[in-house]
Amino acid sequence: MPENNDTIQEKDIVRLKDKVFRLSFSEEFILTAVQCVADRMNQELRNKNPLFLGMLNGAFIYAADLMRRITIPAEISFVKFASYSGTSSTGCTEQLIGLRENLNGRTVVVVEDIVDSGYTMQQFTKYLHAHGVGEIYISTLLHKPHATKYPVRLDYVAMEIPNDFIVGYGLDYEGYGRNLRGIYTLVE
Ligand code: 5GP
Ligand code: MG
Repeated sequence: MPENNDTIQEKDIVRLKDKVFRLSFSEEFILTAVQCVADRMNQELRNKNPLFLGMLNGAFIYAADLMRRITIPAEISFVKFASYSGTSSTGCTEQLIGLRENLNGRTVVVVEDIVDSGYTMQQFTKYLHAHGVGEIYISTLLHKPHATKYPVRLDYVAMEIPNDFIVGYGLDYEGYGRNLRGIYTLVE
């Protein structure tokens, strides 16, 4: 049992490497938001036999919790944008790995952890269209509406957040914090 306010506050604080983060959303709160998204999908995507595509690494926990709440027939696979040092003048570029499914005519539901500038989702949407996808729905656990630089239609947003840096529930700070059950915000 907590004995004073210091103890309560300490419980909601995590330190990852050189940074301090404070709890913003509990696991219970997040799962309620995920259930709302799943309920809508179960209604709106029935008879579409959707292929869910989880974006690694950050979306692995959201994808697992979302998928277990999907009650209509659906498949899931995972893809990853891997940075590699290219020989081009730009020096560094991103390659999509992991996609083996035939996308032709499929209804694809992209499962992303967070949409910030929108760049990743805009690029991925173009890629999917170029590979003959029938319909694309984008689902993101988190959206930072005030960070938008590359507008993209988001069909299923579990939670909207301000322009702060967050970790937990799959999202990391320099590789750490993905295992936190809640979502934590960087304390400046
Ligand atoms: P975008 O391409 O929309 O600018 O950014 C998307 C990617 O940036 C996300 O998939 C994620 O990897 C990273 N990102 C953006 N905001 C945050 C944040 O607050 N915390 C973490 N951990 N990653 C973020
Ligand atoms: Mg991501």
